[in-house]
Amino acid sequence: MTSKRVKVGIMGGTFDPIHYGHLVTAEGARYTFGLDQVLFLPAGRPPHKRNTQVTDSEHRYMMTVLATLTNPYFEVSRLEIDRKGTSYTIDTLRILREQYGPEAELFFITGADAIFDISSWKNSDECLELAHFVAATRPGFSLEDLPESTQQWVAKHQERFHILRVPAMAISSTEVRERVRQGSSIRYLVPEPVEHYIRRQHLYAEPLP
Ligand code: NAP
Repeated sequence: MTSKRVKVGIMGGTFDPIHYGHLVTAEGARYTFGLDQVLFLPAGRPPHKRNTQVTDSEHRYMMTVLATLTNPYFEVSRLEIDRKGTSYTIDTLRILREQYGPEAELFFITGADAIFDISSWKNSDECLELAHFVAATRPGFSLEDLPESTQQWVAKHQERFHILRVPAMAISSTEVRERVRQGSSIRYLVPEPVEHYIRRQHLYAEPLP
């Protein structure tokens, strides 16, 4: 009897806040790559945001839990939130590889802007050995839009690197935060429980320092 290799999606992001663009991306990746599960992984202290103000990780975790509650394929991990120090993806992937075992196929899913910078990430080659990388981007995006050096890097890693075009990627966390600050509606940009949480906790009401 042959046993099926488990396929796990790992949705890495700051999720400040989580919105429908993220959820549509995760569901699209699940369907496209035949994933058994998608693990949402709110970043603890993202390496490229050391000098940027990011909302407290417990709020970002809570909003991710509220947003994913009704999808039985979605789970949320506290792995990066509970780990002290900078959240390097390589450290996370090593732990998840250990947890899921050598047979599991891991797919790290995140925004294309973040992934196209991956050649500068800590141990980027090992990251690609441990997981496939899925870059979520808008329809109409073309690899030719990228700088030559990034195009070469993508070509070199094409077997482990995938582009996922997602219409709902037009939504961004920055826009959601800005709308809250201006008192505009965020209905239908984020799930209703997330909207209530933002209002109740008075998140994004003040301009960041
Ligand atoms: P970011 O720079 O805030 O986001 C870049 C773009 O990707 C934004 O347009 C963002 O949209 C979008 N995005 C982020 N996560 C997404 C997701 N899961 N699905 C679809 N779109 C997404 O990037 P970030 O969120 O802080 O980081 C993304 C992931 O890469 C995190 O897991 C982070 O730890 C990892 N990372 C690791 C290293 C490293 O190890 N050296 C360096 C950089 C990033 P929104 O703003 O709307 O989310």
